[in-house]
Amino acid sequence: MTVAENKVTLGFEAEVKQLLHLMIHSLYSNKEIFLRELISNASDAADKLRFSALSNESLYEGDSQLKIRLDYDKELRTITISDNGIGMNRDEVRENIGTIARSGTRHFFESLTGDEAKDSQLIGQFGVGFYSSFIVADRVTLETREAGGDPEEGVRWESNGEGEFSLETIQKDDRGTKITLHLREGEDEFLEGWKLRSIIRKFSDHISIPIEMKKETHGEEGEEKPVEYEIVNSASALWTKSKDEITEEQYNEFFKHVSHDFKEPLARLHSRVEGTNEYTMLLYVPSHAPFDLWERDPKHGVKLYVKKVFITDDADKLMPRYLRFIRGVIDSDSLPLNISRELLQENQLLEKIRSGAVKKLLGLFEDLAKNEPDKFKAFWKEFGQVLKEGVIDDYKNKDRIAKLLRFSSTENDAQEVSLDDYISRMKEGQDKIYYITGDSLSAAKNSPHLEIFRKKGVEVLLLGDRIDSWLADHLSDYEGKHLQSIARGDLDLGKLEDEKEKEELNNISKDFDDLVAKIKKTLDGKVADVKLSHRLTASPACLVSEAYGMNRTMEKILKEVGQTVPSSKPVFEINPNHALIGKLKNETDESRFADLTLILFDQAVLSEGGQIDDPAAFVHKLNNLLQQIMV
Ligand code: ADP
Ligand code: MG
Repeated sequence: MTVAENKVTLGFEAEVKQLLHLMIHSLYSNKEIFLRELISNASDAADKLRFSALSNESLYEGDSQLKIRLDYDKELRTITISDNGIGMNRDEVRENIGTIARSGTRHFFESLTGDEAKDSQLIGQFGVGFYSSFIVADRVTLETREAGGDPEEGVRWESNGEGEFSLETIQKDDRGTKITLHLREGEDEFLEGWKLRSIIRKFSDHISIPIEMKKETHGEEGEEKPVEYEIVNSASALWTKSKDEITEEQYNEFFKHVSHDFKEPLARLHSRVEGTNEYTMLLYVPSHAPFDLWERDPKHGVKLYVKKVFITDDADKLMPRYLRFIRGVIDSDSLPLNISRELLQENQLLEKIRSGAVKKLLGLFEDLAKNEPDKFKAFWKEFGQVLKEGVIDDYKNKDRIAKLLRFSSTENDAQEVSLDDYISRMKEGQDKIYYITGDSLSAAKNSPHLEIFRKKGVEVLLLGDRIDSWLADHLSDYEGKHLQSIARGDLDLGKLEDEKEKEELNNISKDFDDLVAKIKKTLDGKVADVKLSHRLTASPACLVSEAYGMNRTMEKILKEVGQTVPSSKPVFEINPNHALIGKLKNETDESRFADLTLILFDQAVLSEGGQIDDPAAFVHKLNNLLQQIMV
C-alpha cells in the first residue's frame, strides 16, 4: 500500500462542532491552558511507556531518556509539542481523538442548558484535553508512532476542528507523538520564547520529565551554531520535594494536572510515612464534585507511583469508594517496581497504604470541621452524600466518619447539625437520638410523626437524602446513644413521656377498642395492626413500621430500583383526640365508615410521600364525602 492510498477523511461525531465552538469561546480568556493539556498528555504518554517498559525493555528502542520538546517557528506560525512516550497506533488515534464519545464529553453535553453564557462556565469543569488546541489553532496535525512499532506504521491525524479529520499512514522513525499547531490569526504571542517558557513554568513546572526548548541564541547573522536545547521546568516529581520548597501555586497547578480540574482545590494533604512501609502522599479535596462522582467507574482517581514510576490510576485499589472524589498521588518506596496491576489487588503493603491514607484524610476533614468551618461546609455540600457511604462501608472508621456527618433537623433546615451538636441540645431525660427518614427533606419535615416532638420541643434529625435510610440502619448507636427512628415501632419517649398523658391514653383506650377492631377489619390486608397513637397532635392518623420491620423509606427506594423486598405492612395509628376519629367512632352507616377509614389510610400514605394504590378511588370517595357536606 502506498502512503497516499491510506488517507481517509472521517467525520467527528455530531457534537464535536458544538463542543469546539463552545470551548473556543468560553476558554478564550484562558487560552494558554492548551499548552498545559498537551504537555499533560505527553507526560501521561511517558508514564505509560515507563510502566510498560518495566516488563518489556525493548519498547525503549534504546532510548530511555523520556522527555518533552517544545518548538516554535515564527515564519510558519506553528508550535510543536513532541514526546517520546508510548505513542499510538492507527486504531488508538481514531479511538482516542477521532471521536468525542468520551465519558466527560457525554456528561458535558448532558449538562448543557442551551444558554451559551452558562454553558461556557460549565466547560471548565470538564477535562477539555486535546481539543483545547483549537482555541489557538485553526489546523492541528498530530503524528504518532507506538513504542516498539514499525516505523512505516506511523499515523498522521489532521483537522481544522470543523467536523472532519483525516487519517493517514506515514513513515515515522522516532516513537512517540508530535503535535503541530497552526496558530490562528492574532495568536502571535505564542511565538515568543519567553512567553512559552513562562507558561511552562506556570502550568507544568511539576511535570516529572524534562520539558526542553531551544536555547535562544543571539549570534551574528549567517553564523551557523549547533542547536542546543535547555530544560525549562524543574522536572522533579513535586511530591518528593519537601513542603517548604513548594509554593502554593505549584501545589495548585499540580492538582489541576492530576485532576483535570480548572478550579483551585479546597484542601490538600502532603505527607510522608517512614518505616518498613515507606510512602509519600499528595492528596487533594477538589472544591467541587467531579462530573463522574456518581458513575460506576470514575476515571481520574488517585494515581499510584512506585519510586516515581507511574503504575496505575485505578481508583478503587487506593481509595475506598466513599473517598472516590479525592485526587492526587501516592508514591511507594516499598512496593516492588515490577508489581503487576493484577497483583496489586491482594498486596498487603498496598492495603496498609490505603488504610494509612484514609486515616490521614479523615484527619484532614476533622481539621477542616474544627478550624475552617466555611471550607468544611463547602466540603460537606459537595461530598457529604458520598462520605455517608463510609459509615456503611468502612466499619473500622465508622465512628470517626459519624462524627463528620451533618444533618438537617427540626432546629436547622440546612445540613449543618452534627451528632455532637444534637447531643449537646438533648432534653433532660432524653436518652436517644431521634430521627425520621423521608423521600426528601420536605417529606421528612412535614411528617405527622413529628407532632409530639414539636410539642415537647425535642429535636429530631430529618433524613431526606436517598442514602439516609441505609445510613440510619448502619448507625444504630453514637457515643453510647441509640439512634431511634420515630416512625418505627411503639413510640417510647422514655423519661420525656408525660405520665399524665400516658395515663389518659390508657384510660380512654378501652373506649376505642371497638373502633380499633372495626378499622382493622376494614383495612384487612393493608395493615399489620391498628393502634391508638400518642405521637399525633394535629393529624388524625399516621403509618408506622413495625419495630423490627424494614424502614419504610428504604423499602420504597428498593422497590423503585426494581429489587424485590418482602412487603411489610405498616401499623396504622389513629389519634383519639382528633375530631375526624371522633366522628368515625360514632359513624353508624357502614359504607360511610369504610369510605372515611380508607380515606384516612390513603391520607396517611400520602403524608409520608407514598403512593396510594388507587388514586381514582380515593378521589371518588373524597368527593362523595365533600358532596354530603355541601348538601
Ligand atoms: P485525557 O487526557 O483526559 O484522556 P485528552 O483529550 O487530553 O483526554 O486525550 C485523549 C486521549 O488521547 C488520551 O487519553 C490518550 O489516550 C491520547 N493521547 C493524547 N495525547 C497523547 C500523546 N501525546 N501520546 C499518546 N497518547 C495521547
Ligand atoms: Mg489529557
